[in-house]
Amino acid sequence: MKYYSLNHNAPKVSFEEAVIQGLATDKGLYFPESITPLSKEFFENIENLSNEEIAFEAIQQFVGDEIPAETLKQIIAETLCFEFPTEKVEEGIYALELYHGPTMAFKDVGARFMSRCLGYFNKDKKDNKNTVLVATSGDTGGAVASGFLGVQGVEVVILYPSGKVSDIQERQLTTLGQNIKALEVDGVFDDCQDMVKKAFLDESLAHHNLTSANSINIARWLPQMFYFFFAYKQLKSQNKPLVFSCPSGNFGNICAGIIAKKLGLPIEHFVASTNVNDTVPRFMENGNYDPKPSKATISNAMDVGNPSNFIRIQEMYNNDLELFKKDFSSFSYTDAETLEAMQSIYKTDGYIAEPHGAVGYLGLKKELKNHPNAIGIFLETAHPIKFLDVVEPALNIQLPIPTQIESVLNKEKVSVKIKTYEELKAFLETV
Ligand SMILES: *Cc1c(COP(=O)(O)O)cnc(C)c1O
Repeated sequence: MKYYSLNHNAPKVSFEEAVIQGLATDKGLYFPESITPLSKEFFENIENLSNEEIAFEAIQQFVGDEIPAETLKQIIAETLCFEFPTEKVEEGIYALELYHGPTMAFKDVGARFMSRCLGYFNKDKKDNKNTVLVATSGDTGGAVASGFLGVQGVEVVILYPSGKVSDIQERQLTTLGQNIKALEVDGVFDDCQDMVKKAFLDESLAHHNLTSANSINIARWLPQMFYFFFAYKQLKSQNKPLVFSCPSGNFGNICAGIIAKKLGLPIEHFVASTNVNDTVPRFMENGNYDPKPSKATISNAMDVGNPSNFIRIQEMYNNDLELFKKDFSSFSYTDAETLEAMQSIYKTDGYIAEPHGAVGYLGLKKELKNHPNAIGIFLETAHPIKFLDVVEPALNIQLPIPTQIESVLNKEKVSVKIKTYEELKAFLETV
């Protein structure tokens, strides 16, 4: 499989090159040259397949022969080492729980898959290190830190906005040591992301072989399509149209869902639910893409003013807004609405949703009015414990600490504070 740059001003590359480079030389995101639908038999038979078999079928064409089938199966098995249950929340509404992995966020899937691909591509390059440089608004950092810990030939440098991630999130990315380094940036998430983008284009840093582990990287982004198939497998017997609502920040998750639909997965409609960072909901209303600086909210992993993957979604709809609107809606919610939803879901349904899931629930409820016969699924993208500062007071409950989290709570935070791009460059020289 070849990948082209969405800026159309860089050479086409292989899967390996796209994974190693992250971003194309013309600053564009990579996109697969073709998407071939899976066979009818695959979907007819899906309930008899294991998650690993489904994932292999779904991703194989995007990897091609660059990773041998047996190795790819092994990578998938290590990626999918946990469950993806659909929990019934109320009549016709399910939560697809993506948080049963090692860092309790859906980003574990992409991070684990990408780290193992990179490890495979680096296996014969003894003295050629890659440095993964990643900006996080919350959960990416922890998932990347855990997914890449100890991977041969890969150094990981994580930038996060000081004081704008939760205590647990911060510990997950600052306490592991080994090949994982955390930079605490005096600024907001967009400042972190801007520095990372700048570093990728900086010739003077070429010797670090920088690559990204944000969802701009195809090996982080594409495996996120897997769990849309897993949800279908679980709900297929009800024989109803499916509407998915994804709590969206950089729009990587929902964009992977749209790839699943392109592969033939019968999804009737997508909802991108956002907090007040509403660049896409505004675009859907007036066709004008007008990014704004991000605002801090209680669903902080979605505090993104200029979602990087939206351009990939537009590519799949040939930039045709009317065509796009048939499959896709986007709605925005305030913190007050989010808290109210968390409380009503808990009170009425006995389900504990964290702020991102609650935003997804709100968008789903709204869209389902247009699809009376559908089953609605909102993605629960993180475990409530990761947002305990919000969840506990809002619901007046105390959450038990899961073992995955307990193991980081008493470890010591190690981070380096930076403010400018020059300081980032200086730090990279020390890695
Ligand atoms: C990253 C993240 C999101 C947003 O996902 P995107 O793919 O960036 O749209 C939503 N919820 C949680 C908990 C996250 O960590």
